[in-house]
Amino acid sequence: MQKLALQWKRQGTRIGFVPTMGYLHEGHLSLVHRARKAVGARGQVVVSIYVNPTQFAPHEDLAKYPRDLDRDRKLCAEAGADCLFVPHDTDMYPAGQAAPYSTYVVEERLSQGLEGVSRPTHFRGVTTIVAKLFNLVLPEVAVFGAKDWQQAAVIQKMVADLNFPVEIIVAPTLREPDGLAMSSRNKYLSEAERRQALALHQALATAREQVRQAAEPLPAGRLRQQLRRQIEKNADARVDYVEFFDPVTLAPVRQVKLGDHLALAVRVGKTRLIDNGSLR
Ligand code: AMP
Repeated sequence: MQKLALQWKRQGTRIGFVPTMGYLHEGHLSLVHRARKAVGARGQVVVSIYVNPTQFAPHEDLAKYPRDLDRDRKLCAEAGADCLFVPHDTDMYPAGQAAPYSTYVVEERLSQGLEGVSRPTHFRGVTTIVAKLFNLVLPEVAVFGAKDWQQAAVIQKMVADLNFPVEIIVAPTLREPDGLAMSSRNKYLSEAERRQALALHQALATAREQVRQAAEPLPAGRLRQQLRRQIEKNADARVDYVEFFDPVTLAPVRQVKLGDHLALAVRVGKTRLIDNGSLR
């Protein structure tokens, strides 16, 4: 991959990059289109598929994460990607007694709250693999989804702090017609759980409505409790967190107003879903 990327660079070809864990859906493909728009018809758009073990905790769904490489390959080609990069674990994290893998990239501020509380080793895995992928693919531009708001913020911080010569584009969250954010993990949901999964989007709608109608900022604690109750009216839904915060610094806000951001993580049955949006 790196040899190919260096060749492209020598020819003056721009490289646009979309890192994914595969089992692609239209949300992923919208990032491919965005990358194409950024590098133009003569640029190279690279999609990577790698289910990165270092961003999963031992009790999480690494082993059963959905995979369908044949289908992903077709979808990438249809979406106009030029190159699909599918590294193996042994390429990314060499094992063996003499030289086991031992270098990590850690962002220490933006990664602490929200997902970082429930998944304390997650972002260390994300920043490490994205740094490695950037060094292999050598993109001018990389596209991430707003669906993973904190991830995009952490990557932007990593790029700024470590001077990666990469422009980060954050593209909007694609949703199903009823509002459920597209996610590879939606595949885990039974029919009844799929209906209850709408609670995340409904919570965003409720929060927006409340903030729009309020004459003054609303106490975050009370709004959080209200949304938690609303979500957990669904028999199989359990809130992991509901958090209001500043969209750039990710610092929690005590008084919620227009322009603040809401992120939530909810377990629906055994499936952990996340969503977020701006309150405006
Ligand atoms: P994943 O395969 O879940 O690691 O996601 C790969 C990239 O696709 C990440 O930048 C995600 O934020 C992005 N993504 C996932 N779901 C969506 C969606 N529904 N809309 C837009 N981007 C998404």
